[in-house]
Amino acid sequence: MLTKARGLLHTHFGYDQFRKGQEDIIQKIMDGKDTLGIMPTGGGKSVCYQVPAMLLRGVTIVISPLISLMKDQVDALEKTGIPSTYINSAITGEEMQQRLADIYNGEYKLVYIAPERLETPSFLRLLEGIHVSLIAIDEAHCISQWGHDFRPSYLNIKQLISRIQPRPTVLALTATATPHVSDDICELLHIEEQNTVITGFARENLHFQVVKGQDRDSYMLDYLEKNKGQAGIIYAATRKEVDRIHHFLEARGFAAGKYHAGISEKERNVYQERFLYDNTTIMVATNAFGMGINKSNVRFVIHYHIPRNMEAYYQEAGRAGRDGEESACILLFSPQDTHIQSFLIEQSDMDEGRKENEYAKLRQMVAYGHTESCLQQYILHYFGEENAPECGKCGSCTDEREQVDATVEAQMVLSCIRRMNERFGKTMITKVLTGSGDKKIKGFRLDQLSTYGIMKDKTQKDVNEFIDFLTAEGYLKPTDGAYPVLMLTEKSGNVLRGNEPVLRKEKVHIAQIVEDNALF
Ligand code: ADP
Repeated sequence: MLTKARGLLHTHFGYDQFRKGQEDIIQKIMDGKDTLGIMPTGGGKSVCYQVPAMLLRGVTIVISPLISLMKDQVDALEKTGIPSTYINSAITGEEMQQRLADIYNGEYKLVYIAPERLETPSFLRLLEGIHVSLIAIDEAHCISQWGHDFRPSYLNIKQLISRIQPRPTVLALTATATPHVSDDICELLHIEEQNTVITGFARENLHFQVVKGQDRDSYMLDYLEKNKGQAGIIYAATRKEVDRIHHFLEARGFAAGKYHAGISEKERNVYQERFLYDNTTIMVATNAFGMGINKSNVRFVIHYHIPRNMEAYYQEAGRAGRDGEESACILLFSPQDTHIQSFLIEQSDMDEGRKENEYAKLRQMVAYGHTESCLQQYILHYFGEENAPECGKCGSCTDEREQVDATVEAQMVLSCIRRMNERFGKTMITKVLTGSGDKKIKGFRLDQLSTYGIMKDKTQKDVNEFIDFLTAEGYLKPTDGAYPVLMLTEKSGNVLRGNEPVLRKEKVHIAQIVEDNALF
């Protein structure tokens, strides 16, 4: 079977070998096993259903939310000699009828549809009348409420599968799924755990970097100056900020496009086309930009603000370097920006359970901004890859500052939290450590603790940052909810017992600042 598959890969796509994971997935599909494939962006997910589509009898239905990409995909398939079509809201009624009739007459091997199509009874009846051998679900994380892009229309896929006889094989594909989300996909689609194929999330050509404590506008200008002529996207959190940054860049002589839901479709399309065809190299956008944009030579993605979670970050940053060339993903991190995202969660109409989930995800995004460990490792760990090696090229791996021993300071913080019975959040902990005269501290009698004021030589900002660092490195674990309490972890137990040192990269040792201050 695989020899035949390899033959098709060669004749239709011109490739000699399957990439990691492709063969495994194709074998499972040909054995009739429902499968979940998790591969990074650019990993080659399409081949995983396009080759089986050619080998199987009947039709393969591809469900994808990316309407704008369907035409491109179908055009490309037609060129390689694979009969295929798509049905979505962009085609006329007449065209639709023609295509439906052709599907019925068996003229296509692949049919792309948007999930909304599953709400159309006539389309469902059509599917019941033809032989569907495979249903491929692209962006399968959209089916999970715990994913970052839940789409209720994806839930209809379950009914679709059960309505078609004989039951088609199911292939779910995604590039962004935490273990929680992939479990959810398997449960909803009844995919057995052993039929999950994960090739890893790593995108070897991406250089991750977090920039903090610098003026963002100057950093951005400097970066653009040094990388003139290269294509890149600058993501900002709000429309207003997109407008401001766009204006700011244009005023300084950079030709840039902009994209957000507040500008007319016509104008958006003009900017988008210019960017796609390299007439302008910079695009300033909200997260509305990018889904379905297939531009392979994006050399950098700068996030001016943090996005709402790591999945969104990895997806947006991952628009860099789809051609495999070295590319940069830079987050301009300012902890205050968390408020924008918290506010958006608070204002949303999600139920309490989902809100808590969103806050927890946001915290992990913030921790990414604070971590001093390998950034790629942090991302891969988030997506459930435990033993990824250090990447050797991210901002943390290439940070040449000396590591200093911060064990004593860490013990101060951790023992203070223990004495506060692990019942308070960051602000109160900082106040106790710095010896604040806040009424609440007195109210709780926290000024009686032996750790009250043991870091009074430091500013609240420094202590706050240090606590963020301890959280990012796993010495503290926040509880769920908007106002998390910080709890100790197994790792912090080791630090308190003196069995594990805490090392931190710093230009100036905290103790040094203390000494310097002591001079005055
Ligand atoms: P994804 O959907 O996972 O982001 P695509 O299916 O668009 O990725 O594939 C990314 C690129 O890799 C495409 O240009 C595709 O033609 C190419 N590709 C896929 N499979 C192979 C292979 N076995 N060998 C070489 N290139 C491949």
